[in-house]
Amino acid sequence: MSKQNFIKDEEEKMSSRISGRTAFCRECGQSLDSNIDPVCEVCGWIICSCGACSPDCTGE
Ligand SMILES: [Zn+2]
Ligand SMILES: [Zn+2]
Repeated sequence: MSKQNFIKDEEEKMSSRISGRTAFCRECGQSLDSNIDPVCEVCGWIICSCGACSPDCTGE
């Protein structure tokens, strides 16, 4: 029941949420959701409306 353990639990919850469901565009920083936005099969990034990755991506 220490305060430190409570903080650690919160951090683990946060990190699993980020790696599991939410990502950010590498170009514009917009938050993206792999459950909503299509994922590029070439490079593995979620396709963002800013054009950082498009359906005809070459993976570069
Ligand atoms: Zn973007
Ligand atoms: Zn791509």
